[in-house]
Amino acid sequence: MWCVINLSLRPVHYASVSGGKDSFCMLNLILNNLDKYPLDMVVHFELEIDWGWSKRVIDEMQKRCEAAGITFLRIKPRKSWEELYEKYGFPNAHARWCNSEYKLDCKKQLETWIRQQNCRPVAYIGLCADEKARFKYKIGNWQDQECCYPLAEEGIEEWQILEWAKTEPIFEGYYKYFKRQGCMLCPFLSMKEMAYLLYIDEDMFNYMFDCIKETEERILREKGKIWLFKTVGADTIKHRVKNKWKSILEMEINQYSIFDYM
Ligand code: SF4
Repeated sequence: MWCVINLSLRPVHYASVSGGKDSFCMLNLILNNLDKYPLDMVVHFELEIDWGWSKRVIDEMQKRCEAAGITFLRIKPRKSWEELYEKYGFPNAHARWCNSEYKLDCKKQLETWIRQQNCRPVAYIGLCADEKARFKYKIGNWQDQECCYPLAEEGIEEWQILEWAKTEPIFEGYYKYFKRQGCMLCPFLSMKEMAYLLYIDEDMFNYMFDCIKETEERILREKGKIWLFKTVGADTIKHRVKNKWKSILEMEINQYSIFDYM
């Protein structure tokens, strides 16, 4: 499908930041190269289900932007996670409302607002040089595009950022154990990520499993279908996380602490 961009409209360049390692690195790159990457504002789509550490990264980014005189905008979805959960149940592969109706609602609000000013949005997105499959344009030719990937434009690869992020205190150790960050209440969390949630916030972990269990029961009651979380069900997964994966993660954490003292 062709997307027609009206190039006569004034572009509004915005950096979209999630609070993860790539967006943090991209923002630094842009702030140090404003001639090459003009910046009108920085935007964060603020979700209730963001990890606590990434919320603190966002606070720090906002401070740095404000010190540089750059507008920092936080946009929340118009409906809360709880409201959408009440309507659809816990998100899953068949009902991925967490993206379409929740996260992307922030983008919709932003782009509508920019277009109402008779401007066209140009988003800086933190994709790296080795994420080619996700590119919408050819690197080196972003001037007339609706998005730009500054990290890829500079030839920076994901592993380079990961190595740096592992020891960067602002990420509170998260990247010592994980390569990427998604949302905290995500249906696609790995076993180790669920163990991390249990490790840092047991109440939230229990809440997530209550929601998943309730959704399994609701689908059976309302649709007469069996849906089991990760094909074996909430109870089994919760048990495995508590009895196996939490100690695997703790062993890794302890291993890191030993090296930290060497
Ligand atoms: S990271 Fe997970 S919870 Fe967040 S929008 Fe994507 S699928 Fe949904």
